[in-house]
Amino acid sequence: MPSSSKEDGTAAAAQQLGSMSLGGSAVERNDEDNDAGEPTAKNGATPTTKKLCSACGKKSDTLKKCNGCKCAWYCDKKCQNKHRKEHKRECRPIKEVLDKRGGRLVVGTEKDLGPLGKVPPREECPICMRALPIHARLHVYAACCGKFICGGCNFQYQIKSTEVNAKRGQREPPLPLLPRLCAFCRTAAPPSNEELLVQLRKRVELKDPNALYNMAVEYGNGQLGLSVDQAKCIDLMRQSSGLGCTEAQLKLGSFYDSGMMGLEQNEEEAFKYEKKAAEGGQLNALYNVGCFEAKNGDLVAAMRHWRLAASGGYKNSMQGLIAFYFENGLIHHGDLAETLQAMYLARGEMRSEDRDQYIKHLKMTGEYREEYEH
Ligand SMILES: [Zn+2]
Ligand SMILES: [Zn+2]
Ligand SMILES: [Zn+2]
Ligand SMILES: [Zn+2]
Repeated sequence: MPSSSKEDGTAAAAQQLGSMSLGGSAVERNDEDNDAGEPTAKNGATPTTKKLCSACGKKSDTLKKCNGCKCAWYCDKKCQNKHRKEHKRECRPIKEVLDKRGGRLVVGTEKDLGPLGKVPPREECPICMRALPIHARLHVYAACCGKFICGGCNFQYQIKSTEVNAKRGQREPPLPLLPRLCAFCRTAAPPSNEELLVQLRKRVELKDPNALYNMAVEYGNGQLGLSVDQAKCIDLMRQSSGLGCTEAQLKLGSFYDSGMMGLEQNEEEAFKYEKKAAEGGQLNALYNVGCFEAKNGDLVAAMRHWRLAASGGYKNSMQGLIAFYFENGLIHHGDLAETLQAMYLARGEMRSEDRDQYIKHLKMTGEYREEYEH
């Protein structure tokens, strides 16, 4: 884990803030969301224009604004209720800040961040064609075909295979069980670690950046029956990074940042790799780069990177934006709202019933960790 965690980033930003004037002569902005006095609709939300519904993603001129944070818009009560569970983590803290300010959306100390950039689209699951979930635990790398398959599709396919085999087992006489197959290319899953290694090595020879990354991780952790080999891990990681794998770039950044895997701690190298990964749209890296920048005193650049990471769906970054930058009046309510909209849109694209079911399954089996949905 990189030491430039959210806490560090926020602490660094707080330190910087101490030396800044908050009561300065920041420019007042004509905020379109500054709609004090606007009539409130019957259901407690205020009407607005040209936004996307945070729940279903539909565009409409008659969306209703969430009355708590004034940052989210919905088609109707139904959409709002459907989204409550996802939204409350942002809504509550934003509302708390607004309440403390007596409901004022603009305080006059906000920084001008410019337009919200766009992160490159996430790789899609080749089965459901939805953007892959952010957390690595929520998708699998199939060394047979070199594809990332989302946990939802993989889980559904395994359930179906188990059902088919259960039926075969009930026949008289029972039919032989079918082997486990890859959910995408239908190659038989390797029955042992040795065979999985053979499969992975083949893709490593093909210089598949994701295979190089996965093999590096195996060597680094000493998995699949391999003994830990830090030099090999770093070598493979560098190859993968050179071929553009942002996960490998992020990992190298965090190894340098904390002096791990046999590397000497080197902040400059860490920043170089994290930046590379961030340029490729790696959300965690965008967030980490923001932490570095806050530490070095560039709060505006830090906010831009956190905003970008949040707009790609990275919740941690949004939490930081609210808890530190919005709380201290550094980010416009309008910019926060725009980022939140983008975040919900991105997260909506990563959600499906199959994926929800997979998460439910992980919760049931005790394998679920809260960070999976950050
Ligand atoms: Zn809707
Ligand atoms: Zn809200
Ligand atoms: Zn899928
Ligand atoms: Zn496959």
